[in-house]
Parts: sequence; structure tokens; C-alpha cells
Amino acid sequence: MGTYYSVKVARPPAGLSAETLRLQVESALDQVIGEISTYEPTSELSRLNRDSSTDWIPISPNLHAVIAEGQRIAALSDGAFDITIGPLVNLWGFGPEARPDELPTQEAIQAARARVGWRKLELRASPPAVRKARGDLYIDLSALGEGVGADRVATELETQGVGDYMVAVAGTIRAKGRNAKDQPWAIAIEEPLPDQRSVHRLVPVSDRAISTSGDYRNFFVKDGKRYSHEIDPGTGAPIERHLGSATVVGERAMVVDGLATAFMVLGEQRGPALATDQGLAAYFIVREGETLRGFGSPAFEDYLTRSRQP
Ligand code: ADP
Ligand code: MG
Repeated sequence: MGTYYSVKVARPPAGLSAETLRLQVESALDQVIGEISTYEPTSELSRLNRDSSTDWIPISPNLHAVIAEGQRIAALSDGAFDITIGPLVNLWGFGPEARPDELPTQEAIQAARARVGWRKLELRASPPAVRKARGDLYIDLSALGEGVGADRVATELETQGVGDYMVAVAGTIRAKGRNAKDQPWAIAIEEPLPDQRSVHRLVPVSDRAISTSGDYRNFFVKDGKRYSHEIDPGTGAPIERHLGSATVVGERAMVVDGLATAFMVLGEQRGPALATDQGLAAYFIVREGETLRGFGSPAFEDYLTRSRQP
């Protein structure tokens, strides 16, 4: 999926070697790639994207679960999160293809926008299938993919009897139990700064998932302007926000991964409002001139209070 992962295990069950675990983790991730990666031409999603039929197209239950979550977050965020964003992501050079040297023209953006819209995608649960309103719809599940990977690896580790682990797929993490020092896993939220890595604050994470989305890692600069990989479906262009990053804590990595991206696209006003409204545990870092201001939603503050209790 064009990204990296790491797995830490404390107190592994007797008889389970690191090498065996590594193979199992890789096979779990390979399965996810085979289902939902747009970077892998043979994946189920790539095949679905090449299929220009506007009839019901059967899909696997696993692919269905991810698309269903994408559509749920689209509705929740009033379309700020949109898994049909693919043509725009690719147009701006954040997809599997090489980045063009020039910025896309207004005509190209308008043409891509005509292909985008989560309501153009219908989903059916049984038997699982999708129906496209246009044959050239292109689905991009990258905003959920890290989370899907982290959840799948976590399930595999638990099947193997591992009770203390931390799985990170890029900025999405799932942790359970305690670390090697027998402390709760602590996850750093970084300062949203492009050219350095420093800790803004630490969040204890056990039996939970956490994901941070930001505009400070995956971007390009053209004529002094920064273009982020998060695209606003409303404008067809990369987001321009004062929000540096959004972090979400919850049970499933897929859910927090998608929500963190949704909050980034919603921005510094609508993002925190949605978190408060929906009781979601989220932490936002906003750029105010030269300074960075961080604040949590009410559910995030509750989460911290509860995690501090023994
Ligand atoms: P981040 O954690 O920085 O949000 P993700 O990989 O989770 O990174 O999500 C960003 C990816 O999601 C982009 O590279 C693109 O493929 C896709 N994406 C961009 N804009 C949107 C959007 N508005 N809705 C859903 N997915 C998007
Ligand atoms: Mg995401």
C-alpha cells in the first residue's frame, strides 16, 4: 500500500518464534493488500475499479466491510470523507501512478469531480455487492487501509495467543496489554511539522486503536505552496486548513483511521464540532500563526481520565 509497518510483542507465548510471527503478520497484510490496495493491480479492489459495469457486482465480505465503513464515515462527515475520491487523488499525484510535474488544470479537476461522489456508489449486504452509478467510478480505500491492516494483524496475533502487542501501520496503531517494561503502551502524537519529529504529547493506549492524520508528511511543494494528500471533495483540490493534525482513539483501527482523515478534511471548525456531537475521542492540533495549539474533544478528555485510573 506504499507504506511501512512495525509490530512489537512483549512476553510472547512459549514456543512462538519471532520468525513464525513475522511470516504470519506478513501473510495477514498480504491478504489485506490483495483485497483493498489500489497499488496492487491484481487486488480485488483494482479489479472492481477496472469493471465498468453499472449492474450489481459481487464482492467479498471483507471488501464489503471496508466499503461499508467508508460509506458510514462519508454520511457522518457529510461527504467530506469520500471513498470515490480516487480520480482526484490520482490527478493530484497521490495515487499509485507517478506524480506529474504540472498542477492539474481546472478542466481536468472538473472532469475528475464528475466521477466523484459517495452517493454514486450503492452497497448491498447480502449477498455482498456494489453498484456504480457511473462505470468509471474509482474507489480509493487508502484512508482506511492502514487501519484494516492493523486490525487484521491484531486478530492474527491474538489467534497466536499474543496478549501484549503494539501494531503500527504508518500512522495507525493498535495496542493491547502492556509493553516490555510492563507499562501501558504509550503512543506519541507528533508535532505537525514537516521537517522534524518531536513529541507533542503521549497517549496511553491499551486494548485500543489510535490514528493520526496530518498534512505534514505526505505532500508536495510547488512554487512555494504546500499540497497535501487529503483532498476536499467540495473543491476537488488538496485541503487548505489551519488544522495540522487530527488524532482519533477508539476500538477498531479501521474506524479511527478513517475518522482521522475525515476530521482533517472537515478542518478546524467542523472537525471538533463533529467529535463533540458524536462523542468521538479526538485530539486536534491547530496552527495559530507560529504556534501550535492542541485540544481534545470531551470524549478524549474522558478517555485520558479513565486511562489514568489504575
Ligand atoms: P492520513 O493518515 O494522513 O489521513 P491516510 O493514508 O489515512 O493518511 O489517508 C489519506 C489517503 O486517503 C490519501 O492518500 C488518499 O488516497 C485518500 N483520501 C484523500 N482525500 C480523501 C477524502 N476526502 N476522503 C477519503 N479518502 C481520501
Ligand atoms: Mg486515515
